[in-house]
Amino acid sequence: MLNHIVVVDDSEAIRLVLESELKALGVNLVKSFSDAREALGYVKGVSTPIDGVLTDLQMPFMDGLEFIEALGRQRFRGGVVMISGMEERVVKLAVDIALSYQVCLVGSVEKPVDRDKLAQQLSRIVQLQGDEPKEIKYLKRRELMDKIRQDKIIAYYQPKVNLHTSELVGLEVLCRIDDPAQQGIIPPDRFIPVAEKFDLADDLTKKVLERSLKEFKLFRDEFPDANVSLAINISPNQLYSDALPHFICDMCERYGVSREKLVVEITERQVITDQRQLANLDRLRLKGFGVSLDDFGSGFTNIRQIKSYPFTEIKLDQAIVQNISTDRISQVILDALAEIAGEYDATVVAEGIETIEDYFYMQKQPGIVAQGYLISRPKPIQELIRWYHAWLKKQSGVGSQTSL
Ligand code: C2E
Ligand code: CA
Ligand code: CA
Repeated sequence: MLNHIVVVDDSEAIRLVLESELKALGVNLVKSFSDAREALGYVKGVSTPIDGVLTDLQMPFMDGLEFIEALGRQRFRGGVVMISGMEERVVKLAVDIALSYQVCLVGSVEKPVDRDKLAQQLSRIVQLQGDEPKEIKYLKRRELMDKIRQDKIIAYYQPKVNLHTSELVGLEVLCRIDDPAQQGIIPPDRFIPVAEKFDLADDLTKKVLERSLKEFKLFRDEFPDANVSLAINISPNQLYSDALPHFICDMCERYGVSREKLVVEITERQVITDQRQLANLDRLRLKGFGVSLDDFGSGFTNIRQIKSYPFTEIKLDQAIVQNISTDRISQVILDALAEIAGEYDATVVAEGIETIEDYFYMQKQPGIVAQGYLISRPKPIQELIRWYHAWLKKQSGVGSQTSL
């Protein structure tokens, strides 16, 4: 749960209500201010990390939008919630500021404040910060090394579909460890952090790439007319050396996959600023691979940075995609992203579509590619091949343009 929240509102009544509601929702420390300038000083100086700021928009001295911008300049990394109605012009301005100054704008709560809506915004702060307290049983370094050596790294595939045309455009490779003796399949959150910590990420990527390129051939043999790319995930710290671009080139050559069909996905949850990382991103692009910015909206990239990177694809984070059909802030973020992606000829991928409402919302946006459990969960290659046969069959059926 959240520990420390700051409230800024010039109305004493609202401050009192929010303080008591936030406490009732389990927030330990709630600090409230009537003047945004004082709040800014507090945010700058306080040593206990602040999870989120709730701010009014209309205030004397410094208004809410100026305040959000100042938080961005101060590199505030918590979530920001606006206390206001959803006036269109204001929402657009706020999203603009958030995307330009790397502010994590979560949403808004209207006055009078409703406890359920407030709880919803708090859980979005938790989700966007990715710090839901989870008990993860990590593999030990030795165990992971053994699994890599014993070829136990396996690939699952999740389809990327153009919602407008229902065409399959890509497959994302998501690795797992095959462990029949223990729990069956070990998910990546139990071993990717271990690989990153102990310098095993390149070894892991080699195994994943080798296996998926082989299996991709099975897919292409089964569907020779499909025009589908294959995307692998890498960690940003694998971009410190140029080993990766070289071995990806070698492997594509060995397995006869043309470079423009291979996409490298890099998460924006960690900052990419080092010149070596940027040079290797450029190198991947120059060699002809697709380069995808994963988890957009969850991390540290801002719109200006997107413009200076050579991304061919941007993936909107699940936290923004989920409930987009009813969430105006998420809708405006998607619009802003689609506009920029359009200028650079990059594709926008919406990740984590789980409901039919969000599916239909996305389908109305031109050119959006989607991924999510509603379309298909990640699957081993043979199951994926069966899924695609069924998908093609459904799409060729009468009046099935929107069927899943
Ligand atoms: P990611 O790259 O953001 O991949 C998307 C994750 O969201 C996958 O989890 C996928 O199964 C899940 N997902 C897809 N659609 C939905 C949906 O509709 N709802 C929900 N709730 N989840 C959905 P998975 O497979 O557990 O992978 C987790 C993360 O592990 C990946 O996140 C990626 O960052 C990392 N990962 C996976 N394979 C590799 C790899 O080979 N190398 C590296 N470095 N990281 C990898
Ligand atoms: Ca990914
Ligand atoms: Ca993602």
